[in-house]
Amino acid sequence: MKCYLCGLEAKQSEADQSGELVDCGDCGTYKISSLVLKELATKKFDYPKMRDDLHRQRQFNATSVAEINTESAIWV
Ligand SMILES: [Zn+2]
Repeated sequence: MKCYLCGLEAKQSEADQSGELVDCGDCGTYKISSLVLKELATKKFDYPKMRDDLHRQRQFNATSVAEINTESAIWV
């Protein structure tokens, strides 16, 4: 698969109806919710801001996976 953020080759390690877990060498591991995946069909991430936010989430809580959900998604 391709990373939803940077478009480079990434691994999808988990997928269920709540979303997907993506493992990207560049963006790290993040969870993306199925609602956001639906929105992604018509919208585009603000990639630099989204990456900053994932970084911030990891600093804030190192034990949980950074998450892109309808609250944390940053669109262009
Ligand atoms: Zn990536």
